[in-house]
Formats: sequence, structure tokens, C-alpha cells
Amino acid sequence: MKINACLASLPAGYLFAEIAKRVKEYAAENPNADLLRLGIGDVTRPLVPAVVEAMKQAAVEMGTPSGFRGYGPDFGYRWLIDAIIDGDYRTRGVEIGPDEVFISDGAKSDVGNLQELFGPDAAIAVTDPVYPVYVDSNAMAGRLGEYVNGRWTRLTYLPCNAENGFVPPLPDKPVDVIYLCYPNNPTGTVLTRDQLKVFVDWALDNDALIVYDAAYKAFISDGDIPRSIYEIPGAKKCAMECCSFSKTAGFTGTRCAYTVVPKELVFGGVSLNRVWGRRQATKFNGVSYVTQRAAVAVYTPEGQKQTMENIAYYQENARVIREGLAAAGIRVFGGVHAPYIWMKTPADMKSWDFFDLLLKKAHVVGTPGEGFGPSGEGYFRLTAFNTLENTREAVDRILRIL
Ligand SMILES: *Cc1c(COP(=O)(O)O)cnc(C)c1O
Repeated sequence: MKINACLASLPAGYLFAEIAKRVKEYAAENPNADLLRLGIGDVTRPLVPAVVEAMKQAAVEMGTPSGFRGYGPDFGYRWLIDAIIDGDYRTRGVEIGPDEVFISDGAKSDVGNLQELFGPDAAIAVTDPVYPVYVDSNAMAGRLGEYVNGRWTRLTYLPCNAENGFVPPLPDKPVDVIYLCYPNNPTGTVLTRDQLKVFVDWALDNDALIVYDAAYKAFISDGDIPRSIYEIPGAKKCAMECCSFSKTAGFTGTRCAYTVVPKELVFGGVSLNRVWGRRQATKFNGVSYVTQRAAVAVYTPEGQKQTMENIAYYQENARVIREGLAAAGIRVFGGVHAPYIWMKTPADMKSWDFFDLLLKKAHVVGTPGEGFGPSGEGYFRLTAFNTLENTREAVDRILRIL
């Protein structure tokens, strides 16, 4: 068997493994250290009652002859698709058709799988720092060339940093695909409507596709920040949008997401909607009935109220971190419309050196920016996914050592 050499030679998933290793070693040597984890990118608040009740009812139904269901529709139940269209798009003045929404088990799988739509030599651009899935999934398919000194030779990096206000520059050479994620993981920053329009216009002019990851849209607290790329005119002709219940409603362990592929999206005479449907119907058998019932409960009035309370809790944590560090003169970014705070390391420390300092002197675990790409060096990510008490304590400890 000839192995996929691109997959076999992929650099090890170094970031979180390396963090776990350093934390484990330190904890073994210092068993009394009370470590506070502000590094996780996973929600911590439980599922809301409206969701739990819907799952219970659906489970009971599945145990009755009349309520039992086998395979569901390939692309999701119509009642969930309609709730998504009404709740997430119509309210924003965007019309999406029911056959343009594809329910899935996660935005990570969708964002990783959809590169199967691209030709083997398609040129890819990502913002830098970046959610690693976009890069690694294309590397596995052999599109990115060689990995040399922390960079892929065929990947276009769009650096985002304090100097450009975390607004990515346009690619300086032709690319076929641009991945954008807003609100951003890891930087927690957003793009305004005008800033996003620049990318939509560029993609339309250059016959490029934008893959828009809106996993954190529920954290947007300002009506002027777009929640969907389709709020920008022309975006239906150039963008796919991936959304998830993971961060919106705490579904990281429950698994439900959706991707929008508009009918207007046509490249080389081929409808992406048609071929994505073909791909999904071949390789994916849908999300469980119980889970889709859980997801639709998010759109009920109680579901909305309860999930927004959880989001507000994380937003308060983010505020505590952001304002606490800023008051001490640290340069902080993001954390307003996102659960992530991206901080400049003090005195331009290397991000891994700062990681070690925080771990050993403050007993706080965060994430070194360098792990998200070359432009992450000199930055550090803290997350709002902890209790308010722990978040306050972590900020106090960080301030004490700086
Ligand atoms: C958490 C996250 C997702 C969500 O992934 P799921 O598979 O739906 O849990 C997608 N994109 C980004 C950037 C994320 O951080």
C-alpha cells in the first residue's frame, strides 16, 4: 500500500500536546500548586434546561414504535433548517434557502472536509495566527508544499498583528481560497462590515472562494459587526459559511453544526451546493435525531434566553481579563465579541517563555501564540472558559508577577 506521504509527514500536533506535557511535568514536581487553566478552547457551562428537556423528550420518542426514527434526511431535518434560517439569517435581513443549509456534526469536520471541493493544486490563504484545522487539512491533501522553519512553502499567510490592528492584508498573489474566521480564534478580534467587504469584493474580482468560519458569532454584542458574511452584498457568490452550536450553546460534547452553501456559488461551471451535497450524502449519515432536537431547542424563546445567559457569563469573564490586564499596562486585543483575549507578551518575551513564566510563577495556564502560526510569536491567548472566581484569581496572580 502506498501511504499518503503528506499525511504521514505532517508535523506532530505540537501545541496542545506540548502544553499538556509541560503542565504535567510541573504538576508532578509541584503537587500542591493550584493551577488555573485559562488555556482551554472548550466551554465549561452545562447545557441549558431547554436543551436538556428536548433531548429527554426525543430519547423517549425514539423508544416508542411511532416515534422511532432511523436514518434522517441526509442534510438535516427540515424543522432545524427552518429554525436556523429564521433565527440566524432572516433576523439579519439575509434570505437563505432550505436546500442551502447542511446540518453536520461539527464545524471542525466541515471546515476540514470541505477542502475536498478544491483541486489538488488550489492555492490557499489563511490569516496568521490561525485555527490549525484549515492549514492541516490542506496539508494532508498535499496542497501546501514543504514545512520549513514553521511555514508551509505553498501557503499564503496573511499576518494579523498589533501593527495592522488585526485586519488581514489582501493576498499579494492570486489564491483560490481564503479562510476567514470572525470573531477570530485565537485573537478574539472582529472585522467591521467595511473590512469584510474588502475581502468579498476581492474574492468576486479574483474568482476566489472565501471559507467563513462563524463559530463564535453568538459572542458578537454590537449590531454593526456582521454575524454572517452574507450580510455583505455579493457574498453568496463567493463564500461558504460554517457555524456551530458548540460555542453558541455549549454543544462541544453534544455535536451539531451547519454549513451554508448558496446556490449562487459556482466555480468552473460547477455548483458547490450540488457537489457538497454529493460529498456529504456519500460520506456522512447525518446527526442524530436527539441531537437535532437539542439544537432546535436553542431557537425557542427559553433556549435563546438561557443560552444567552451562558454567553453573557463568558463575556463577563472576558471583560475581567481584558480590563484587568489593560489597567496594568498590558496590550490586550479581542475579548469583546469573543471568548478569547490575545495579549502582547511583556517586554516582547517569546510566547513559550511567557507560558513557562505564567505556569511556574502564577500557576496559570494559557496558550502561547506561536502555536497558532508564525505571526503569533510574542503573543499569548487567554480564554474566558472558566468560572468567574477562577478568572478573577488568575488575573490577580498574573498582575502580581508582572
Ligand atoms: C470551536 C471552533 C469550532 C467549532 O467546532 P465544532 O467541531 O463545531 O465543535 C470551529 N471553528 C473554530 C475556529 C473553533 O474555535
